[in-house]
Amino acid sequence: MAAEGITKLMTRPIRAIVDLSALRHNLGIARKHAPHARIMAVIKANGYGHGMLRTAKALETADGFAVLNLGEAIALREAGFRQEILLLEGFFSSDEISLLKQHDLSTVIHAQWQIDALLQTPVSAPIQAWLKINTGMNRLGFQPDDFPAALRNLQQAGAQVTLMTHFSSADEINGITEQLSLFNTLTHDLQLPRSMSNSAATLTFPDALGDWIRPGIMLYGASPMSHINASELGLKPAMTFTSKIIAMRDIQAGETVGYGGTFRAPGTMRIGTVACGYADGYPRHAPTGTPVLVNGQHSRIIGRVSMDMLTVDLSGIPDARIGSSVTLWGKDLPVDEIASAAGTISYELLCAVAARVPLSEAE
Ligand SMILES: *Cc1c(COP(=O)(O)O)cnc(C)c1O
Repeated sequence: MAAEGITKLMTRPIRAIVDLSALRHNLGIARKHAPHARIMAVIKANGYGHGMLRTAKALETADGFAVLNLGEAIALREAGFRQEILLLEGFFSSDEISLLKQHDLSTVIHAQWQIDALLQTPVSAPIQAWLKINTGMNRLGFQPDDFPAALRNLQQAGAQVTLMTHFSSADEINGITEQLSLFNTLTHDLQLPRSMSNSAATLTFPDALGDWIRPGIMLYGASPMSHINASELGLKPAMTFTSKIIAMRDIQAGETVGYGGTFRAPGTMRIGTVACGYADGYPRHAPTGTPVLVNGQHSRIIGRVSMDMLTVDLSGIPDARIGSSVTLWGKDLPVDEIASAAGTISYELLCAVAARVPLSEAE
């Protein structure tokens, strides 16, 4: 009852609607590209803003889920997910090791101190360890020279090992060649499962699929590559970010709109105020001209994005009214277009949808 009361009071019309069938469809695209690999669905950052448990449920046929926090991994186990669950940055202190074991969680091992901690923390059954090799990203992982000893120590600690690396430029042409050949040189004669590819590599480098792929962004229907759009990849947007027009006015030539008066009307025009601002997760850096849909018709935002509102050009949309629907991104308006207008990537926009935006789902 209480929850329902709160839901009813979410009267501000902004919503993020998650299309569960799009998530399932995009998982199917990942499978089509990697029919012989298992899929570690990356649902960190609250499922890239789509809701972690909701996303996991929609993607329940995935072979594994990757997150960052122990608490998230345990929440997935407690929600009943039986597949492999991987901590992408591994554990952060040796206190976590017994919980990893208790909940049958897999951990990335990227540094010697983690192996030392494992050696000093006897556990009854083998730990599932994803041993990370730094092949050029220079973020996490063992240097190639240190890798053989790390593997030996980890196996001595009783771990079951999967080998992994992460590409720095899989979204660029020829972006993985050097890293892949280094990884192959280090691992080709080891009879251990291997995992290399994020979304971009899964979609463009069939020789890097390995035993486990690790797709993230493609599952949410955005393109990991600036030179290919999501629909060309067969992906469907999983999130539609919508709101409504809450005010309208006609302005005269020379009048300005919004903070700083950065937009000046070239002539008489009709404008609309939308209940969505940067505190909802819409990028403040989106300039005049960033695309938006009003009643399904293409328009543009004008002036600066404020904390709670933004303004749209209604000149070409005679049927626009107070209450008309506004699509900020999603179905029929790729989030990649908004990201590129704002000088960022879809990942950042999806993750940044604010907690105050009610998230709901549609089949
Ligand atoms: C986030 C992440 C991924 C997923 O990357 P996408 O580009 O979203 O597909 C895969 N592997 C690792 C190690 C990651 O941190």
